[in-house]
Amino acid sequence: MTKQYLFTPGPTPVPPQVLAAMGEPVVHHRSPDFKPIYERCLARLRAVCRTEQEVLVFASSGTGAFESAVANLVTPGEPHLVVSAGNFGERWASMTAAYGADVDHLRYEWGETPDPEDVRTRLGEREAKAVWVVQSETSTGVVADVQAIAAAAKESGALVVVDGVSSVGAVPCETDAWGLDVVVTGSQKALMTPPGLGMCAVSERAYAAVGSSPRFYFDWERTRKAQAKLDAAFTPPVSLVAALDVALGLLLDEGLEAVFDRHVRLGRAARAGARAMGLELFSPDEDRSAVVTAIRAPEGVDARDVVKSLRDRFGITIANGQSDLMGKVFRLGHIGWFDVFDITTMLAAVETVLVDLGADVERGAAVTAALEAYEHQQVA
Ligand code: PLP
Repeated sequence: MTKQYLFTPGPTPVPPQVLAAMGEPVVHHRSPDFKPIYERCLARLRAVCRTEQEVLVFASSGTGAFESAVANLVTPGEPHLVVSAGNFGERWASMTAAYGADVDHLRYEWGETPDPEDVRTRLGEREAKAVWVVQSETSTGVVADVQAIAAAAKESGALVVVDGVSSVGAVPCETDAWGLDVVVTGSQKALMTPPGLGMCAVSERAYAAVGSSPRFYFDWERTRKAQAKLDAAFTPPVSLVAALDVALGLLLDEGLEAVFDRHVRLGRAARAGARAMGLELFSPDEDRSAVVTAIRAPEGVDARDVVKSLRDRFGITIANGQSDLMGKVFRLGHIGWFDVFDITTMLAAVETVLVDLGADVERGAAVTAALEAYEHQQVA
């Protein structure tokens, strides 16, 4: 028997209490058995998304919830500004274009950090109905300064739509305070729940700006009206909602600030460990980069072999690089139900397989460096 470890930036490990909720008997979604769970889950979602607005819940992955934003906000021919610096930003550029948006694509190289000044300049040159931006670009490990980007967008009156799929619940995402009109997230990342729920916090300004693209299942108004009565427009995945309710309760019990602080320190630990081994980071070496640590494979090593060896030898699943980064980087996820010993387990295993693959790495240094980085640095 090999113990299995899930160390990817989604899906992420699910705490036993959350799994236990999934195992409860299925209840009817319009019965009194479900309503208290639903009501509490929706209230907790608002708390975790830091918004007073209803957070719409869809039976979909994060991409589905994002498509709800596109289907509701894009009318063919309208100008939109999409900021991309990796796989997910590029997905949103394609999706908005598929709905007929006239897309101005502010495209950075993968691994770059979007600059709010560029957004300001671009909007000065060409107006946009909405700015679409990824907070945590999971393909690269970059976490953008969404607060500053939103401020730049607001100056021109544009709506701000944020992909918070891998950031909500891991790093601060102040939906109302930062004036974010739409924040999309998913259950299987920092929210510590199995895949299958896509969520979308929507501002009044965004509701007022809905366009004319065809939509039905993902129509915001339909879901909003139903949720306001603690009803659901369509059969919700009741077991996932029950699980999410428990997971959100765990986050709120820990306290969101403490959760963010833990993620900062997990990121520091992962980066310190990688550096101590002599590896080069691909993701930025900064506290904001608290979601996933992307590491360059050392000279002569294919990153895919690192990922494969970790699985074959130790039952550890980490993530490959995506697209052009495939084979060049491997990614250690650390959002959700993670502690520092998950990081030291990853690092010790990475070190072992790299040595086997013939890499020249410093042995024995990573675990100590990670523990020190986790414990001894104060979060500013
Ligand atoms: N956006 C980001 C930043 C992601 O990390 C992911 C998933 O990895 C997605 C969007 C897509 O979410 P899903 O796979 O749940 O559709």
